[in-house]
Amino acid sequence: MSIARLARPEIRKLEPYEAAVQVDDTVRLNANEAPWNSSGEHFRRPLNRYPEIRPARLQKALAKRFGCNTERLLVTRGSSEAIDLLMRVFCRAGVDNIVTTSPSFSMYQHYAEIQGAEVRDVVLARDRDFDVDIDAIEAACDPKTRLVFVCTPNNPTGTTVARNKIVELLRRRKDKSIVVVDEAYIEFSDAVSCAELLDEYDNLVVLRTLSKALAFAGVRCGAVMANTTITRMLNAIQAPYALATPVVECVENALHGEQLTQAEQGVALIVEERERVTAAIRDIEFVQKIWPSSANFFLMQVTNAKQLVAACEERKILLRFFGGSLADCVRVTIGSRRDNDRLLGAFHEIAGARL
Ligand code: PMP
Repeated sequence: MSIARLARPEIRKLEPYEAAVQVDDTVRLNANEAPWNSSGEHFRRPLNRYPEIRPARLQKALAKRFGCNTERLLVTRGSSEAIDLLMRVFCRAGVDNIVTTSPSFSMYQHYAEIQGAEVRDVVLARDRDFDVDIDAIEAACDPKTRLVFVCTPNNPTGTTVARNKIVELLRRRKDKSIVVVDEAYIEFSDAVSCAELLDEYDNLVVLRTLSKALAFAGVRCGAVMANTTITRMLNAIQAPYALATPVVECVENALHGEQLTQAEQGVALIVEERERVTAAIRDIEFVQKIWPSSANFFLMQVTNAKQLVAACEERKILLRFFGGSLADCVRVTIGSRRDNDRLLGAFHEIAGARL
């Protein structure tokens, strides 16, 4: 109950939507569905039928993969949806706040603003490789701080937050705030998932996505793992039938066998390429600093970020420019070996032209 107390009172009482019962091998006249299959493509569950209200098999498979009990995991439409659900469960508009660090993933702020929750930002020190300062985070919290976001590896810096710091934050905010650990890029790092801490900390929420290492950004699938009290509330506000049948079956098929082996090899190649690309550009004149990255991208400081991005765009290579406190930085995603060779060629050409 102590963690439930942090949620909005009207959400605590909310019951999940009660959908029409679904039983295999029955005549289904209870859900106003069409009786004929609309799709030429073959799915185990025909498309004239509603999907399962929550995809049970997929939930089980993802719980096994991400290392938690099935009841603790909710399958979401990308981890973006999980961020939105968390805001709506915990933050009362105009009353509660969230604490984030910057630079970090902008979606935390985006969904907080939509919900009308104040955003308290803790600036990470560039000269300390964006190291997360737990004291500064704690100082930013007040009794209305419902969610604290920690992204590790962090987007867009690629840097990680040490496990002992996350544990310290969980301890300090125990019964006071939920600590959301976003592990979108964890497969590209050596870190072990915080999911193993779920038994111990009621205020821990872990986010995972299939958009990066599993190469499924197009299907919109992710997962949120937490104490079952929290998962139940997130489940109650998620749209019924949130995950479409083609998405569910496509991901289920990909979680074993050859497709999974291929994804795992892909991750190993990205890590290898990250090291090759960063080593190859370290001595280029316009590259001033490359932060150590544990993700499928890296952040670098350059002499003229905007010009570099424009010069690459002219060569049909797109890089990410953020502006603001990162106005002298560029984020580079690691592509295929061929993509990366093109990038290296472009960088040398641009350096030769003395950008
Ligand atoms: N968290 C982080 C840190 C991200 O960078 C992203 C995507 N860029 C997401 C979550 C959301 O990913 P998705 O909604 O595709 O699962």
